[in-house]
Amino acid sequence: MSEPKKVLVLGAGYGGLMTAKGLAKQLSSSEAEVTLVNQNSYHYFTTELHKPAAGTSHHDHTRVEIASLLPRSVKFVQDRVKAIKLEEKKVELEGSNEELSYDYLVVGLGSAPETFGIKGLLENAYFIRNIDSVRRIREHMEYMFSRYADEKKDELITIVVGGAGFTGIEYVGELVDRIPELCRYYDIPEGKVRIVNVEAAPTVLPGFDEALVKYAVDYLSSKGVEFKISTPIEECTEEGVILKGGEEIKSATVVWTGGVRGNKVVEDSGIDTMRGRVKVDELLRAPGHENVFIVGDCSLMINKENDRPYPPTAQMATQQGQQLAKNLASFIRGGEMKPFVYEPKGTVASLGKRVAIGVVGSKKLTGGLAAFMKKVIDLRWLYLLGGIGLVLRKGKL
Ligand code: FAD
Repeated sequence: MSEPKKVLVLGAGYGGLMTAKGLAKQLSSSEAEVTLVNQNSYHYFTTELHKPAAGTSHHDHTRVEIASLLPRSVKFVQDRVKAIKLEEKKVELEGSNEELSYDYLVVGLGSAPETFGIKGLLENAYFIRNIDSVRRIREHMEYMFSRYADEKKDELITIVVGGAGFTGIEYVGELVDRIPELCRYYDIPEGKVRIVNVEAAPTVLPGFDEALVKYAVDYLSSKGVEFKISTPIEECTEEGVILKGGEEIKSATVVWTGGVRGNKVVEDSGIDTMRGRVKVDELLRAPGHENVFIVGDCSLMINKENDRPYPPTAQMATQQGQQLAKNLASFIRGGEMKPFVYEPKGTVASLGKRVAIGVVGSKKLTGGLAAFMKKVIDLRWLYLLGGIGLVLRKGKL
């Protein structure tokens, strides 16, 4: 009998976990040895990070230990991937300095902030990226509010959110829910707090249905959010941001949500990338590397309907992971692989806990009904990950 194939999955995000779990379900350990590498011992729900960032939920609600999600047949290695060595079919790890070899590599390392070269952004802004980063944002914001009691400087309670895409709008929605509580706690008049959402594009939520965008803008504006649309940030300083045209907004808390690029490890591997993302073929393979598959935010797929890349979403990463697991299992057994076809199920953006907007199937939803659908989507992910047990444990997000 031949040796089991070594499948190495990098990253325990939506794409990586779905691949590893799917492979374990379909292949026996005599057919494949599946190893999953992730830098943390836990998986975090990236789609929920705007909540702990604003402080509307504790960050522990947004993560779950990876070991509790995996069947025993998957080997979990907690370490940071340092480099992918394609020629040698090896991956170098940072902590242990070990090298892991593979027959098939699945890369699901997620994204990094795209700053579009805006001066000072990396140094002075905060980013909604992972548990550490959102914990830092919340603690920083609360500390700034506590200082306001003494110092009375408006910039301490001015929050600038760069980017009014999905993440930016969801974060602003959570802030709208959180600020009244913070103001009560620190004895600050609510009207003093400024939330300014700055966007370079001519609209909030580019690509979303116009009526839904209007609903979101009207709702958030009614809660005091200021929108500055078609207004790129030119520079981020220690004092705040400078906008195109010269306006300066003094702010102690600038949070950038304006875009993502693929993980640097992928860019450095020698695989061709566009903003760190790999334009994969229909089998999710990296060009020129038949045994290397890319899923999630590190991958780039073109929507043939409009000739534009699909936005990087958890929905896409999940579907890719599920399909790739089936394909790899079939391939390892000498069978065929089927082309991946993305089937969008709809998108719902929350505007705080009780309000949302979205399209599900062909239906446009707003308000409480959309917020309910958002909850259903979140629960579905928990179910896919850890069955009913995880839904019951983590379902009260
Ligand atoms: P991720 O889920 O980001 O996972 C990558 C994993 O790799 C992480 O565990 C990370 O720790 C690990 N990792 C990274 N580098 C290394 C390394 N060097 N070594 C080891 N491990 C490493 N999408 C939707 O579909 N719907 C939504 O409602 C939605 N809302 C969002 C809200 C917010 C606030 C944000 C930030 C994103 C949202 N998204 C949403 C987008 C979605 O979260 C991403 O597209 C999705 O997480 C991508 O999945 P992934 O598997 O590629 O990567």
